Parts: sequence; structure tokens; C-alpha cells
Amino acid sequence: MIPVDEALELILKSFEPLEPEPVHILEGLGRVLAEEVHSDLDIPPFDNSAMDGYAIQAADTNGATKEKPARLRVVADLAAGHTTDALVERGTAIRIMTGAPLPRGADAVVRFEETSEYLTDEWEHGGEVQVYNEVPPGKNVRPRGEDIHRGEVVLSQGTVLRAQELGVLASLGRSRFLVIRRPRVAILATGDELVGIDEELEPSKIRNSNEYSNSALVQKYGGIPVRLGIAKDQVEELRSKIDEGLAAGVDLFLTSAGVSVGDYDVVKDVLGAEGTMHFWQVKMKPGKPLAFGEVRGVPLIGLPGNPVSAMVSFEQFVRPAILKMQGRSRWEKPTIDVIVDHDVEAGQRRDFKRAVVERREDGYHASVVRGAHGSGVLTSMVRANALLIVPEGVTEVPAGETLRAQMLDWPEEVEV
Ligand code: AMP
Ligand code: MG
Repeated sequence: MIPVDEALELILKSFEPLEPEPVHILEGLGRVLAEEVHSDLDIPPFDNSAMDGYAIQAADTNGATKEKPARLRVVADLAAGHTTDALVERGTAIRIMTGAPLPRGADAVVRFEETSEYLTDEWEHGGEVQVYNEVPPGKNVRPRGEDIHRGEVVLSQGTVLRAQELGVLASLGRSRFLVIRRPRVAILATGDELVGIDEELEPSKIRNSNEYSNSALVQKYGGIPVRLGIAKDQVEELRSKIDEGLAAGVDLFLTSAGVSVGDYDVVKDVLGAEGTMHFWQVKMKPGKPLAFGEVRGVPLIGLPGNPVSAMVSFEQFVRPAILKMQGRSRWEKPTIDVIVDHDVEAGQRRDFKRAVVERREDGYHASVVRGAHGSGVLTSMVRANALLIVPEGVTEVPAGETLRAQMLDWPEEVEV
């Protein structure tokens, strides 16, 4: 038996980040930047007002109070998106809106709230405004280049693009940029008992659910699923599906079933003959059988057939490979400390128990999902939002103890 961590390490050795490709900004979310982004301009590009108020010379407000206000002559009105030829000289002010460029001569902005404009809604300045406070130079002015300086490296290569990075790229006028391309992942189900989801269920048949849960997980982690459908347990059929995947230029083959001890040896035989393949017994539950290797130069991960085992193994081994191919530098599934609400029993292998984690006043609590939870009971995954991890060799955990849990549904960007 091979430990989970060792299996992951061996798998990850076969994957490197893929090549860059250009994308439009609207396709950029969640992608990994494959270039260094410099700014060719200052942002903001000009000094501008941070408030709705009056652009003034700060010195004019020396000694100003509510009782003895500074009285300034209003010489112009300036909205955002406009410029003015008017000048702020001693004793004058320009009425200005947030984002409008600071007029020549002004060195500060006083908010409406500190002027006579604030007295009533219908107030009209009638050519004069009174300022009730001293205003220091630079007040309420956003200087040119405050956010970004021209020539600066704004985003480094390897950055995962979130909404804020896309906003920054937009403000730089970068509608296209280079990101690491998404991996194409072939999804192949094997087994004589499988039928497509739109087909009739004959006796002894079940629907091919793994294809859909695996496709969804591939998409969730940024890959592109290439669905190859079902291969019966026959050498020729399996071979032709593999040819189909290779022709589609996939970066990874993902098969399900046919790799455990009790199976017809067809899957094993074909995979073994087409490339180098290891058939592991991983020290975990569920998900003990796992195949890993390559077929004609393309890496292949053979997941177990049981739907829960397939999903749990996917999270442990396939997710990291997909993230690594996309240039991500962190691929561990985020885990948190949880207090177990009842006694937990486990075997010798690392146990991933389907659990419900909820937040209470003293922290996160976990309880194993109720009802059947065999590795074929997919609804146990429906009831779960986490995998509670009982470490190798630990067979009993009393209520109140702390364990780690992998959150199935938390955003992957959360680092805990
Ligand atoms: P195996 O790994 O071939 O021993 O399969 C283990 C169990 O998973 C069997 O009960 C299979 O019927 C079931 N199984 C295999 N492939 C799929 C699939 N694509 N969708 C749903 N169940 C499957
Ligand atoms: Mg089978």
C-alpha cells in the first residue's frame, strides 16, 4: 500500500504548467497571468478631487471658523470628465465634483459639508462660498500616480486573476493578455454495466454518473472536459477511445473503474500495453485502487469506479494536477480545524469521511453525514459539505477532539 502523500508526490512530478495563450479580459477570471504587466501611464493620470466640494488655495482658510468663515469668490463649476480654463487665485474657489481634475492654482479641496453650501438643499452660492474650517494643503486631493506609477510592474507573472486584478488590467487599457492555457482532460468511463444517461436501463445496467461528476469537477478547477463516453470492457473499444482522446489533443486522461482487484483485467491490460502504468493500492478510504502512468506520452489517472471513491480520489489527486498545469503554485485542498461532535471510528487507512461542517460560537464543528455511506452511495456526497480527515493509524476519535476537514464547497482561493 502506498500513502496518499507519496501517491500525490509521484503524480505531480508528471505535470508542469502548460503554455501561455492570449485571452480577452472577459475570459480572464481565475486564470493565471503568464506575463509581467507594466504600466505605461500614471493612475490616476491627473491630480483630482476626492470629494464634492470647492477647489481652493489652502492658505485662504488660515484661521477660518464657523463664526469667522473664510469668504471665497466662486469663479467656475467643474464636473468629473471636464476641464476648465479658470484659475484658482487667492480669495477664489472653483466648485468641483469627485474625480474632476484639480484646477490650476488650487492646492486643496474643501468638502461641501464644511462650507455654507451645506446649510440647505436649495442653497445657491450667489458668487460666494464661506469655508468654516482650516484646510491643510493637499486635503481631498488624489495626486496623479497615487495608485500606479508609469513604468511600475503592476502584476507579476503567476498572479491568479480575481475581479480586482481584472479591474487593474482594465484601468491600464489591457483588454488582452497572456495566461496559462486550460488543460484539456479526457473523461472515459469503463464498464460493461454502464449505459448513457439518456438510455433505457436494461436489467443489470446502471447509468454512467461518473462522467458527469468528473466533468463538473474538471470544470470547477478550470480544466476543459473532453467527454469520451463509455468503453465496454473490451480491448478494441478501449483502444479506440484512447485513440480518440489522443486525436483530441488532451493533456490528461481520466478513466473510471476497472482498476480494482476484482475487475476483468481488460482495462489494466490495455493501459499496461499502451504505456507505463502503475496500479496502486492507496492507503485511503474511500478510494483505495488508483492507476497512474502515461499512455503514448499523455499522463493518465485511473480513478476507482465507485462514485464516491472517484470523487474523493479526484479531489486528492486530479485537482492538484489540473491546478499545477494551469500554473497555480498552491494546489493543496484548503483544510480547517473542526471539533467533532460525536465519537468517530475509522480503519488503519487515511479516512475521508463525508461530513457536515458548520460554524458555531467556539469554532467549526463537524458531524459525519447520516444515513448510508458506502462508497457507492453518491447521495452521501450530496448531504456533505466537507471531508473529515481521520489520519492513518487513528481508529477512534472521541467527541470533542479536533480533526482537520477539507471543505468541498469553499472558494478555492481561501487559504486557511
Ligand atoms: P470497479 O472499479 O470497476 O470495480 O467499479 C466499482 C463500482 O463502481 C461498480 O459498482 C461499478 O458498477 C461502479 N461504477 C463504475 N463505473 C461507473 C460509472 N461511470 N458511473 C457510476 N458507477 C460506476
Ligand atoms: Mg468494473
